Amino acid sequence: MVIAIDGPAGAGKSTVARLLAKKLGLRYLDTGAMYRCVALTLARRGLAADDTASAQSVAESVKIEFRPGDPQRVWCNGEDVTEAIRQPEVGDLASAVSTIGGVRRALVQRQREIVGEGGIVLEGRDAGTVIAPEADLKVFLTATPQERARRRWLELRDKGVPVSEDEILRRLLERDRQDQTREESPLRMAEDAVLVETDGMSITEVVERLARLAQEAGEA
Ligand code: C5P
Repeated sequence: MVIAIDGPAGAGKSTVARLLAKKLGLRYLDTGAMYRCVALTLARRGLAADDTASAQSVAESVKIEFRPGDPQRVWCNGEDVTEAIRQPEVGDLASAVSTIGGVRRALVQRQREIVGEGGIVLEGRDAGTVIAPEADLKVFLTATPQERARRRWLELRDKGVPVSEDEILRRLLERDRQDQTREESPLRMAEDAVLVETDGMSITEVVERLARLAQEAGEA
């Protein structure tokens, strides 16, 4: 069973995908973390996001590992970067580097290898359209920008990251614009994806809904 979940920033994809994978006994792939690793590595080397040759070379060579943990740990070039890649600045930079064709090709190739082993829930922006178009179930998870900004703000506040809700909303709308209008694999819903709008739904309800859809897909 391969389940591909796409949707805009802050729709809850990571949390839902992780819990769904656990519930169904599947592996979990956070493709956004891979773009974030490339962004963090570039920033640490003092390289700009528009330096496309360097960005591609980093995407081809950076060592990315997902190690067990709850939540799963992300290692980049031998260092645990699980928290570092969640900084809003790294997210903005990840969104910028993800517009580079060479970066996408390098990461999509790795993602397909991981997905090829089967039994996985993957999430991102192009999971159902590019990485795994043959997935058994494709879901497009979304919510209004205001709801998504509020969730992200609560999440960061709990982690002690000082940022205002307005600032988050501004960044999120900019991220949506960048993700939807880029030339390379823009964020869009696959034709055969199921649209799940999560305003007013709890995480548990969303996971239950997706588990039912997965069961139906498995029986089909
Ligand atoms: O999902 P997350 O917020 O961690 O992703 C960070 C950025 O990486 C996104 O804004 C998006 O631009 C990019 N991304 C992508 N394709 C994916 C996953 C993430 O372009 N499959």
